[in-house]
Amino acid sequence: MQLYSTKNSSTRVSFKDAVFNSMPQDKGLYMPVTIPRLDDKFLNNLDQYTLPEIAFHVAQNLIGDDIPADDLKAIIHDAINFLAPVVKLEENIYVLELWHGPSLAFKDFGARFMSRVMSYFLEEGEKQLDVLVATSGDTGGAVALGFLGVPNTRVTILYPKGKVSDIQELQLTTNGQNIRAVEVNGTFDDCQALVKHAFTDKELNEKFRLTSANSINIARLIPQTFYYFNAYAQLLKQGISKAIFSVPSGNFGNIGAGLLAWKMGLPVEHFIAATNANDTVPEYLKSGVYQPKPSVATLSNAMDVGDPSNWVRIADMFKEDVNVLKALVSGFCYNDEETLEAIKFINDNYNYVACPHTAIAWQALRDYQQDNYKADTAGVFLSTAHPCKFPDVFPESISAKIDVPEQVENLHKKEKQHAALGKDFVGFKRYLLENE
Ligand SMILES: *Cc1c(COP(=O)(O)O)cnc(C)c1O
Repeated sequence: MQLYSTKNSSTRVSFKDAVFNSMPQDKGLYMPVTIPRLDDKFLNNLDQYTLPEIAFHVAQNLIGDDIPADDLKAIIHDAINFLAPVVKLEENIYVLELWHGPSLAFKDFGARFMSRVMSYFLEEGEKQLDVLVATSGDTGGAVALGFLGVPNTRVTILYPKGKVSDIQELQLTTNGQNIRAVEVNGTFDDCQALVKHAFTDKELNEKFRLTSANSINIARLIPQTFYYFNAYAQLLKQGISKAIFSVPSGNFGNIGAGLLAWKMGLPVEHFIAATNANDTVPEYLKSGVYQPKPSVATLSNAMDVGDPSNWVRIADMFKEDVNVLKALVSGFCYNDEETLEAIKFINDNYNYVACPHTAIAWQALRDYQQDNYKADTAGVFLSTAHPCKFPDVFPESISAKIDVPEQVENLHKKEKQHAALGKDFVGFKRYLLENE
């Protein structure tokens, strides 16, 4: 597999280099030089395959010889060891549950695959890999659990004090082993700034082999295509061959992977980009003007992004024909009040509890179907996290119904451990140097 930068189409790097560097020097994003179209035999018979089989076929077509077949198979079986079921709620409304992994959010797909690929590429005797990651909640948990116990790696997670939910904080701070958590007295943006600063610090880079685990890494994007193919396979099993997907979107990695799957031949009729008040992309799809804005805080905080970092990948995939993109993707945005109404409707009508991000995707699907209903087309909205991760959002009558998974109950028995730092870089650098 060869990759180029969206800012310079003549660059070429290997998959391994793209995985370890995350981002090209020119600050573009890596994209595969060829996006292979999968063979019809596979696409027409998706319902005959399991999720790991689908994942292997898709990944092998993209990655090629960079990871030999048996090794790739082993990575996939280890990383994708949970299901992504499609559940019917009513005629032509289905929910794709992506939170059956260890951190209870869809980010497990990307983080678990990436951690194993990094570990695979680390050669014997190489310096330990130091992963630095800033999180507003879900990323940190997925990355921590993805790397937990992975040899020759260490993860440092920075999270903003008082701004992650109790369960998220437990997921970040109770791991031990090769995972350490740093509580920063500041915002998510401060955490992000500390990480970015560390990557440009000469002394730190001489001492440590630093890498990032954020959502722009190509090894996080690839595994997110798997569940689109697998969802379509589940629909085929029920005799349904037409589908639209509604995706709750923040940094646009999730829907970007869906569009990559479409480019590889997955016959999706339409995509819906569902956002909260951070509506840069829905505005663009309406007006044709891409105007990034500062992010605003909402109830669906994993989507509080004013300048989605993966958007350049989507723009790049459709650079030859923007009109194809505009016909394929619709944008919808909702405020917090509408999010709460959607949560209530889903609870009252389907007896189903959706997290705030998921509820936005459902509302967008419903609004799209108002004007574009087709009896032969299944609408699928993606559920990106288990509702127990956002307990403060729900009224008591709904939160009482949430089944808390066993792994969360167990978290409460573990001891929380974290360092506490200010938002100044000098303090963070000292912490890294003194805790080798
Ligand atoms: C990260 C996240 C999103 C946003 O996904 P993107 O790939 O950044 O668009 C949506 N919902 C939840 C629960 C998340 O954790």
